[in-house]
Amino acid sequence: MSNSQLPDAAASARTWDENFLVSVVAPVYNEAEGIEGFIAEVREHLAAISPSVRAEIVLVNDGSTDGSAALLDHLAASSQGGVRVVHLARNFGHGPAVAAGLDHAQGDVVILMDADYQDDPAAFAPLLDQWREGYDVVYVERTSRQENPLSRGVFWLFYRIFDWIADTNSPMDAGNFGLMDRRVVAQLSQLPERNRYLPGLRAWVGFRQTGVSVPRRARYDSSTRVGIRGLWTLGMNAIFSFSYVPLFVFRIAGALSIGLSALLVLYAICIKIMGHDLGTSSSILISTSFLGGINLFGVGLLGEYIARIYDEVKCRPVYVVDRVVKRDEV
Ligand code: UDP
Ligand code: MG
Repeated sequence: MSNSQLPDAAASARTWDENFLVSVVAPVYNEAEGIEGFIAEVREHLAAISPSVRAEIVLVNDGSTDGSAALLDHLAASSQGGVRVVHLARNFGHGPAVAAGLDHAQGDVVILMDADYQDDPAAFAPLLDQWREGYDVVYVERTSRQENPLSRGVFWLFYRIFDWIADTNSPMDAGNFGLMDRRVVAQLSQLPERNRYLPGLRAWVGFRQTGVSVPRRARYDSSTRVGIRGLWTLGMNAIFSFSYVPLFVFRIAGALSIGLSALLVLYAICIKIMGHDLGTSSSILISTSFLGGINLFGVGLLGEYIARIYDEVKCRPVYVVDRVVKRDEV
């Protein structure tokens, strides 16, 4: 979203007082090997902003099975404090874990990031600088990625297709990593949607938004926790929650196929008038399979929307909390 689209780009500067609290929120799924280093790095960058700034680190254990839970409890109990751990009742997935983290954060501003080193905490200072300039959402635009060329290409293409078809303008190449003011987090927590694509919802909320450019680092290990299936679900949620263009495409395809079959009917009539026998024409076979394909495709697309409606109607909570381990701020 470019600043020119914003209702009031002239944001007014803010300051913070001694009660100002920064929350850093990260979902954690099987990150036992990296989590200690992650917390240490976050602490270091929080301290560098200002030694007096109060901060809390909210980690959501999304049903880890690699010992992360016990390790997180141990780290939360350490003398340094400042770590709050929300244990979910099972693995709910990245989106629900993020929602749980936002709901449990108490800060005046919330910085959302992943716990796998890909999001660089060196961005904290520029994020807070923009908040002080008066912005309510400061998202991180990834200037570079460390993934393989295929993944990079797929992400690049996804953001551009999404930008083209979505009915809410969201910034290009920006994921979850970024800062949100308390009032934005409060709005997000109130949204009842179950299939949540956070960069889209964050843009939908509005207020004053801007971006900072930060390169994306490599994961500390090479195996993604979200995986191809998770990314596919996220991508589908993004498209079907923020765009009706797929239905429009289906309508166009339907109109084209009606046109084509009308032509084939005309062709058949002409052949009949000329006294020829139509026989089992291959064109009829082609048109039947073409129409069948269009129908199935359309039913599939409708199904994507209906499944999401069903999810909303069931009204299940987005996540279930097992227990929360609380500590004072950093
Ligand atoms: N994650 C989670 N639940 C899951 C999968 C991932 O909480 O079911 C966390 C994971 O620990 C990490 C973040 O979400 O902090 C992003 O995961 P990952 O790095 O695997 O995603 P990618 O960067 O590959 O999209
Ligand atoms: Mg990652």
